[in-house]
Amino acid sequence: MSEKKNKYLKLSGLEPLVVTPESNFINVGERTNVTGSRRFLRLIKEENYSEALEIARDQVEGGAQILDVNMDEGMLDGVYAMTTFLNLIAAEPDISRIPIMIDSSKWEIIEAGLQVIQGKGVVNSISLKGGEEEFLRQAKLIKRYGAAVIVMAFDEEGQADTYERRIEICKRSYDLLVNKINFPPEDIIFDPNIFPVATGMEEHRKNALDFFLATKWIRENLPYVNVSGGVSNVSFSFRGNTLVREAMHSAFLYHAIQHGMSMGIVNPTMLEVYDEIPKDLLELVEDVLFDRREDATERLLDYADKVQNSEKKEDNKIAEWRLGPLQDRITHALVKGIDAYIVEDVEEARKEFDRPIEVIEGPLMIGMNVVGDLFGSGKMFLPQVVKSARVMKKAVAHLQPYIEAEKDDKQKSNGKILMATVKGDVHDIGKNIVSVVLGCNNYEIVDLGVMVPPERILEVAKKENVDVIGLSGLITPSLDEMVYVSEQMEKENINIPLLIGGATTSRAHTAVKIAPNYSHSVVHVNDASRAVTVVGNLLQQNSKVYKEQIRQEYEAFRDQFLKRGKEKEYISLEEARANKFKIDWDKTEIIRPNFLGTKILKNQDLVDLIDYIDWSPFFRSWDLHGKYPEILTDEVVGQHATELYNDAKELLEKVLDEKLLTAKAVFGLYLANTAENHDDIVLGDGTTFLTLRQQLKKREGVPNFALADFIAPKSSGKQDYMGAFCVSSGFGTEQLAKDFEAKHDDYNSIMIKAIADRLAEAFAEYLHEKVRKDFWGYAAGENLDNNALIKENYQGIRPAPGYPACPDHLEKKTIWDLLKVEESIGVELTESLAMWPAASVSGYYFGNPESKYFGLGKITEDQLQDYANRRAISIEEAKKWLNPNLADK
Ligand code: SAH
Repeated sequence: MSEKKNKYLKLSGLEPLVVTPESNFINVGERTNVTGSRRFLRLIKEENYSEALEIARDQVEGGAQILDVNMDEGMLDGVYAMTTFLNLIAAEPDISRIPIMIDSSKWEIIEAGLQVIQGKGVVNSISLKGGEEEFLRQAKLIKRYGAAVIVMAFDEEGQADTYERRIEICKRSYDLLVNKINFPPEDIIFDPNIFPVATGMEEHRKNALDFFLATKWIRENLPYVNVSGGVSNVSFSFRGNTLVREAMHSAFLYHAIQHGMSMGIVNPTMLEVYDEIPKDLLELVEDVLFDRREDATERLLDYADKVQNSEKKEDNKIAEWRLGPLQDRITHALVKGIDAYIVEDVEEARKEFDRPIEVIEGPLMIGMNVVGDLFGSGKMFLPQVVKSARVMKKAVAHLQPYIEAEKDDKQKSNGKILMATVKGDVHDIGKNIVSVVLGCNNYEIVDLGVMVPPERILEVAKKENVDVIGLSGLITPSLDEMVYVSEQMEKENINIPLLIGGATTSRAHTAVKIAPNYSHSVVHVNDASRAVTVVGNLLQQNSKVYKEQIRQEYEAFRDQFLKRGKEKEYISLEEARANKFKIDWDKTEIIRPNFLGTKILKNQDLVDLIDYIDWSPFFRSWDLHGKYPEILTDEVVGQHATELYNDAKELLEKVLDEKLLTAKAVFGLYLANTAENHDDIVLGDGTTFLTLRQQLKKREGVPNFALADFIAPKSSGKQDYMGAFCVSSGFGTEQLAKDFEAKHDDYNSIMIKAIADRLAEAFAEYLHEKVRKDFWGYAAGENLDNNALIKENYQGIRPAPGYPACPDHLEKKTIWDLLKVEESIGVELTESLAMWPAASVSGYYFGNPESKYFGLGKITEDQLQDYANRRAISIEEAKKWLNPNLADK
């Protein structure tokens, strides 16, 4: 292979993390650090590793992209604690998703860590403190273990505390590493020491400024390296004064990033949005950071004293912004998402300009550009942006009649984008959010809605002369549909970029299955903030380079991917069946359900469901990551989460008061036994559920699971039971969403769908509990709170077709026939077997205490054939419905 032009820092846990110049700031989670977190220290001392793991999990869920682990404490056996904890992490796929940063000042602990982590981690840190020889010895080992490294600006003389010392030590370290031992420069991360400012000590005055300048110098003079640091140090002398500290952190971070800092630890204190720091405070803070005046420290201290003595007066603030100049008011309204005065302000603007269109092109676009910049730089979050869009839409709606009256031209957009959820799929929350965000960035959106047939996508793309097509889908059969659309685009000589997004889509699927079909750009984009950058790159004047880069990236990814899949070893279906999960049926007490047959709940009171709502996924759908309720007080996103939550509750309240949504369910409990082939479950009336079996070669003693293993086989002589259900709370959603859209209120239109989804999941939880406690009754004495329900701490499972244990969507048809779902409650299946209304959940009930969820993994040819025979369908069709996880192909 030829020398790579771009050498990027590439890390990985189970998933890769590539740090490119376009990457946003990389956030290192540091709660799993005994020197920084008392709670973590206590748990590790008590050897309560399971709770310690929860801290790690919270960090990942909270958006940490690298996990810093530190066990440096006098009373701890650091090597033992480090290896134990890292090994436990390795067994938690949702934690070990992200790369590990092994943080220690003791080499033996670092090395112990390096020996157990998977993927490519980072060592934090080494330095010239102990001389060149030791430095190179450690670096060589790190290189051999395949990790990246943080190099502290520290040498034999001590820590670098001036600009000159920082660059001198970093340069010397770099030259040694790169020239002496060929250390890959892209694997070097410098930490040029963030020290406190405004301490009152003369020698600390330039601490921040020197850091900025050194960072800039490093990025310009030491090719391919990154720069990192721990931000909260800078405000050390203002401990206890949150307002000032937040402002200092944000301002410091903002400027550090401008100067080239690409990753770091910013978690411990809340960050204020940079542009929201009160101007007077910002000036004082920046005076200190840049050492702009003699009395900078005193002035900031004065301010700090003042704010500590006076409380914020919110009411005055609102009045205050209303007094500003027109543009400021419009920008403020857009940034804050306040629609109360926008019509008034826009009307004022309209009178000032010659033509109404100029109000859009002028003040409104200026405001929206601020929103775009804030969002693009991670200073604003998704719900706020969608609220901004609402303000914008109201403003434009007010202007529309005037624009038409004047026969003004339409406002020039950055480009036209067609958005569609593909045929057979009904989910559109993510698609709508992306549309709104792109709309905010002045793209014209042609939204074709859900279940859009490929012909229509092509027809509209041509007729409207769009610049980009965006396809979205949530269920696995939609993946095939996207493949088909890409083929059709090729056939019809369409030559515009294709964006792929939605829950089951992946870079792997896009690169392997879609990109090869289409001669133009295909990009997988799964979050709204990236959509803006990607579309911007694709449509810019000189997009050739970007497109070529994407093409190469996907090609390389594809090659690697196809190679990788072959390494795993699979066994035949026959062998897998022989290695099934064995329950000792003689010793198993099977509880006969109190009720056998089918039951319909035509009008479930929504009030009963409220306590069963799992709010965490709700925040995730708005790109706010974290666990509820902790997310509400999270230092970074807490405020936004709280606002969103309050808005959701307000709408939910309205839904309950006015009975705007209807919830219905149908479920049944039946006689059941597994058949002779071990994988079919046959009910009393002959209905057969087909289950599939894992085929990955397992370690000795580990079974190859199929759901059928949890039901007693006929041959056991025991009668067993299972159930099936479908719940929906989506009746009414569509109309409400449309009503909101008509009022230019995308925010609530998306919100009502997200709420309906939550109610459907809550209903599934609620009904499952009733089944366990009453209808089946095997857990009559169960007493679990919502938290325990969310963690599924109950006996039995309710696997859902299309999910990892049972990826077979066709099973929904069996459930529909068995329960007469459509006739009894009106939930339909689309041609791709998506449930309509979208806010619906269906699945089976298994009661056996040994039953649990698992992932099927790859289904090999023999099982595909077996399955096709059992279903009497072709192999091709079988593949479509199973869509076995591509990652295992
Ligand atoms: N509290 C969550 C519940 C949904 S996710 C929410 O409100 O969104 C959990 C559900 O996904 C399970 O109850 C089950 O129906 C399904 N599920 C999870 N893992 C599964 C697997 N491996 N196989 C089949 N279904 C699974």
